[in-house]
Parts: sequence; structure tokens; C-alpha cells
Amino acid sequence: MELKQPIYEIEPWNITESRFSMDHIYRNETTFALSNGYLGTRGTFEEGYDLNAEEGLEGNFINGFYESEEIRYGEWNYGFPSHSQSLLNLPNAKTIQLRIDGELFDLREGSCLRYQRSLHMKEGFVTRHIIWKSPQGKEVEIRTKRIVSLTRKNIMVQEYQATPLNFDGDLELISVLDAQVENHTRTTNPLVDYGPFGRHLLTDLICAEDTALFYQGTTQNSRLTMSCMTTHQLRGQDSTKETHSASTPECDTAVFTHKTQVHKSESRANITWQLKDVQRGQTITLTKWIAYTCDRDIVCSKQQMFLSKLLQDCMSDGFDVIEQEQLLAMEDYWQKADVVVEGDDALQQGLRFNLFHVMQASGRDGHTGLGAKGLSGEGYEGHYFWDTEMYVLPLFIYTGSSLAKSLLDYRYETLPQARERAKVLGHPKGALYPWRTINGEEASTYFPLGTAQYHVNADVAYAFKLYVDVTGDFEYLKSRAAEVLVETARVWADVGCFVPSRGDRYCICAVTGPDEYNAVVDNNFYTNLMARENVRDALQALAHIREKDAAAWQELTDRLQITEAETADWQQIVERMYFPYDEAREIYPQDDGFMMRKPWDDSAIAPEKRHLLYENFHPLFIFRQRMAKQADAILGMFLYSNYFTQEELKRNYDFYQEVTLHHSSLSTSVFGMLASRIGYDEEAYRYFQDSARMDLDDYHNNFFAGIHAANMAGTWQAIVLGFAGVRTNGGKLEFSPRLPVQWQAVTFRIQYQGSQLLIRMEPARTLITLENEIPLHALVYDKPIFLQKTGDYYEQKQQTL
Ligand code: BGC
Repeated sequence: MELKQPIYEIEPWNITESRFSMDHIYRNETTFALSNGYLGTRGTFEEGYDLNAEEGLEGNFINGFYESEEIRYGEWNYGFPSHSQSLLNLPNAKTIQLRIDGELFDLREGSCLRYQRSLHMKEGFVTRHIIWKSPQGKEVEIRTKRIVSLTRKNIMVQEYQATPLNFDGDLELISVLDAQVENHTRTTNPLVDYGPFGRHLLTDLICAEDTALFYQGTTQNSRLTMSCMTTHQLRGQDSTKETHSASTPECDTAVFTHKTQVHKSESRANITWQLKDVQRGQTITLTKWIAYTCDRDIVCSKQQMFLSKLLQDCMSDGFDVIEQEQLLAMEDYWQKADVVVEGDDALQQGLRFNLFHVMQASGRDGHTGLGAKGLSGEGYEGHYFWDTEMYVLPLFIYTGSSLAKSLLDYRYETLPQARERAKVLGHPKGALYPWRTINGEEASTYFPLGTAQYHVNADVAYAFKLYVDVTGDFEYLKSRAAEVLVETARVWADVGCFVPSRGDRYCICAVTGPDEYNAVVDNNFYTNLMARENVRDALQALAHIREKDAAAWQELTDRLQITEAETADWQQIVERMYFPYDEAREIYPQDDGFMMRKPWDDSAIAPEKRHLLYENFHPLFIFRQRMAKQADAILGMFLYSNYFTQEELKRNYDFYQEVTLHHSSLSTSVFGMLASRIGYDEEAYRYFQDSARMDLDDYHNNFFAGIHAANMAGTWQAIVLGFAGVRTNGGKLEFSPRLPVQWQAVTFRIQYQGSQLLIRMEPARTLITLENEIPLHALVYDKPIFLQKTGDYYEQKQQTL
């Protein structure tokens, strides 16, 4: 792992681009993407440049709004998904063009005397400040501020200010709503052959009136309808005079005169403001309010009224109120989730960048999930994967974010689709969650790397269990979590069998573990381990409910028709799960055949092909070699390290260190966490460095396609579950803190069963402070501690790594 030079200046709370360059537009669109989990917009410019597929991608998305195509299979088999789901790129309402005395403001022309674009992570918005000299020598100052509201899910707003600096003259502002958009799927997902190529929204209605633009369209195949509306407020302010009022929504004719024109075509509408005789020093401000909705929330016939009302409310509240709401929402998030690293500003910045993006990308209405790329791009077609449960949810669960429950609710809501899918796969009972999806149905077309990843079932179950353990939410266990645990366990109880030649142990064949370079294998170590725990957790959930609320247990047992014979069978599975073991190396191979595969020789692969194996080699060539794309067995060993000795963990870590190529962004944070658990200090730190700035410095050279949400949250895990050693799977909250020598201190907060805790790791000690009145029992290096009231703390002396 070679560390890259930072792309942006190192700052604790901001990401700043200080030079405009066409070369990096595409990547920066992801860096400056904004979202609120419902609405997502790429960091494209207000100018609305007409870029080609290699240069950039205008992107506006509603979480869960997708288009479907019939999937063409060269060879079809029963159970293959028939229709795709691709997050659809929606009409763009951000464009505001500016003409000064007829010259169009375009950063590719004239010269930029000042350029600064910043993502303000503390405050939750993006600003630009530009001083531009037109080809004819006219200088204009432009300031923009863009907010995607975290409190009003349908709303984004842009404040656009233009000030002539060295001339008096005419300005023209043109606000556009452009529905001529299409997905880039082929560029961002080169292996995908189908996709909504070309335009997919059929226009139902487009209007341009007065100061509002409206578009409604329906997808060709999935038959989903969305609407988008924008309204505007224009005002002028003379920066040279003090008395001018700038708060009226109308244009202030005391400063300049204007007239408006509206225009629309079938897929584009705009409003033009012609401003006469704007004096140098006068600032013209156009506030563009934008709202989106779709028929997952509001029926088509009511969408226009709905958006109009929302926008009226926004305009009467004003931009400052929305900005204030944003600040409060961000403050609340950072108060819970911020991790302060003293001693390394670059890692601090990377960490906050990750925490910012992953929060804003998460679905929060209980009907939507979190895409592997969030809402920042079309990568992976906007699909939700196991990334959410295993990488992101621990962050939201431990920090007490309401996002945790919303994401779990989405999985609960899609249980019916998972039940259907289990049947298709031949399981008479239970639920099988899809490998990748938006609407809850399987969307993976290549089953060896898709549906065969049955571990997703155990991952979903793991997240429900973690939520209940960490929050202590017994109601949620009864009402939702237990059902998911039972239904997922049922598939494990059906998929395998007890095998005489394996000592009558329970074997699971023909599955793919997390590592996608070894597919359709027998007894994948991770899968078997997670499956066993899934079944164990289902049994424990039932026992716990029975003990605390017999009526609820009876209702659940009757409704799901759980029999004693069934649970007795599960108990056998828990006791007799099989795990592959290599006597010679005393390690757990990834699966039954792993040690038989040919040793991998990386040097035999041309460097430019190494990260793109599936695009350059036949899958069988890959499957037959002994190597792994990403953390697999060791993820299981990390999660359940209480089942293994330190020596075992070390031997396995050493082995997987040799064979893992880390071609997935999901790999390094896991290796780092296990490394810190076994005291491999330097490696833990190096992995952490790689993970913390992976996206900010574009380590995988594919940030243009969207964020890597899993790794982003994995960085938080690396600190909290890795360096601080937080875990709960022994039934209690445990800590085993070890601060990297490179740092002066790390401070973060977590919540456990109602207790709010502040953890500060310093070189010589760790302080665990209770911040509320809910008493805490925990273990620190296996020693019981008890904190009773607000301000109580425990001090653990320690050595640095
Ligand atoms: C990884 C998967 C992951 C997916 C989405 C793939 O490259 O191998 O584990 O779920 O990306 O992030």
C-alpha cells in the first residue's frame, strides 16, 4: 500500500478545491455530492456544462426510484432475475446560467482570477467563490451556496450571487430545468450489458410559469412517476449603500430593472431574468428552490400541489432558516458521531469526509436502504448490498443514530420479497435476502458472485441482533428483529445437511463468501460461522422473548409456526457446524477447496490488469487460484474473536495477509481491525491510513462512479472497534483500548443500552466517562467496571501500540 499525496488541502472540517480543472471534474462531482438519504445530487456546476461521458456526469437521484429492463441472458436458468433495477438519473434543476453583457459565464473560457469550492462538512453545504474575467475583460464575482436539506427531505436550495466588479451593464440569469438526462451505466458499470441507456422518463407534464418550473415524468418500464419543481426569489443589493433592504422576495427595482421570459420544450424549461443597468458593486441574488417527489410517497395527481406547497413554505421561511436547520442537524450528527484524532490532521480530514458522506447517503424513511455508492453516482446501479449491515450499521447503532432503525426497517419491510426468493431457491420456509437490490427483489444477474452470496442473510440477521444488543430495545426484538432472525435461520437450516464423512457435522455447499475471487464453494468459513451465529441468535431471541413476555412469544410462535422439532434441529446445527481446517498450517482455510488451488503469482499479471481481473480474465482462471479479493474468513474471526485464541488469530491473519489482494474497498478496514486486536501495531495503522483517505485521495481511481460507503464507515469501525476494542458479543460492552503511537489522543462517543459514553484514549491512559444518568456495567480488558451517574469515569492505564 503506497500512500498517495493529498488531493485537497488538509483542513479539519472542509474539503477545498482551489483550482478549476476540466481533468478532475468527474471525480470532484462525487467529492462535492450532497444528499439527505432521499434526494442526492452530484457536485456538478450551476453552469450546467454539457459534458461527454468521459468528462463528467450530471446526476440527481431519489433513493429507491429506479428503472427496470428485461435482462437478456445468453443462457437462462430457472430463478435468474428477469428484470434489472437501476437507480434512475432524474431531471436536473440546478442549472443557473449567467450572461454579462451577452457573454456567457463559462469557466472553460476567459480567466479565473479566483476559484474556490468547498464542502463544509461541519455545516452541511457546498460553496463556490469565483472571480471570473470574461474574454472581453469584464470581471464578475460569483458566490454560490448549495444545501440539500437534512430536515426537509424533498428540498434542495441554491443561493446564487453575481456582482459586476469592473463594469456597469446588463446581466441575464437563466434558470433551467432539464429533463434531457440519461444514465451512464455503461461507463460506471462496464460489466453490465443492460441498463436504462437513453432517456427513460416519459414526460407527463412540463410547465414554465411566472417564477416556477415544473416537470412530471413516468419511467417506461418500472412505471414510477416523479415530479420536480423549482421556484425562485430574486433580489438586488447594492453593496456600496448601507440602507438597502435585501429581504423581499421580489426583485428590488430600486437597484435595477428587469423583465422575465419563460420558455419550455418537451423536456426543458427555463426562466430568464434580464437585468438592466446593473451597477458595479451591486449584488444580484437568485435563490433557487428545488423540490422532488415520487409516487412512492405521493400519488401522481397530487405531486404538483404537494411540491408547490412545500416550496411556498420554504420561501416564506427563507434561506437563512433552512441553513440554520442544516447547521442544527449537522451539529446533532457530529455531537454523536465525530471522532477527534489529535496528531494527524490528514487522517482527521479523511475520517470526517467519510462520516459526512455515509450519513448523508443513508435512506431514512424505513422504505429505502443505503446504496454501496450512496446517492452520489450510478456505480453499482444504486444497489444496496451487505455493505450496509456489516460496515455501516455498526456506526449508526453505536452512535445512537435513528438511521440504524430506518435501515433495519427497510430490511423488515422487504421480508415478503425475501420469503418469495427463498422459495425460488428451493427452500420451503424462511427468507433469503437478495445480494443486490433496490426494491427488495434480487437484481444480481451473475449468480456465482450474486445470489450464491447467501451470507447476506446472516449479515442482515447480525445487524438486527447488534441493534437489539446495543440499544436494549426489547420492543424492537419482539416486533421485528425476532422475525427476521427466525426467517433467515430457516434458510440455514434447509441449505445444508449433516455429513457422515465430516464427522456428522453440518456442511453448507455451493455458496460464495464475501471474497468474490472464490465462487460457489463448499463450506465457506465465513458463511458457516455467520450462519451458525444467525441460528444461535434466533434461538436465543425466542428464549429471551419467552422469558420476558410469554404472550408475545406465543403470538410469534403461532404466527411463524415455529415447532419444537424445528428449534431442536437448529440446536443441532449450532452444536455441529463444520469448519474447514488445515492441519499443516493450523489455520482455517476460506473453504474446503482453498488449499488445493494453485498458488497465485501476481507478478505474472500485467500491472494494468491486476485490479480488473474480471475484465481481463475468465472467471474460472480466477476461481482456480489461491488468493482472495477481500477479507472473508478473517472478517468472521474478527467479529467473533472471542471464539479464537490470540495465537489462532495471528496464524490466520498471517495466512490471509499472504493471499489477499485487497481488490475490494471492503478489505483493508477489516484487516486493520484484526491487526490491532492481535497487536500488529504497524500494520493496523497502515491499513487505517489506507482506509481513512481511500476516497478523498481516490486510491481506487474510481471515485468518479461514487463513494465507497462501506469503507467509509469501516474507518469509523477501525477506530472504535479496532483501536478502542469496543465489542458487545459477549453479552456486555467491552473495551480493549490501544492508541496508535502516531497519535496524541482520540476522542469519540458511543451509546450502550441508554448510557451515553465519552471515550478518550491518550498515550498513557483511556478515560471512559458516563455522560448521562443511565448506569453502565462494562468490561475493560476483561475487568468489570461500573459507572453510576453523570460524570463518573473509569481510568485505564495503558501502553501505546
Ligand atoms: C465487493 C462486495 C461489495 C460490493 C459493493 C464488491 O466489489 O466484492 O463485497 O458488496 O463491491 O460494494
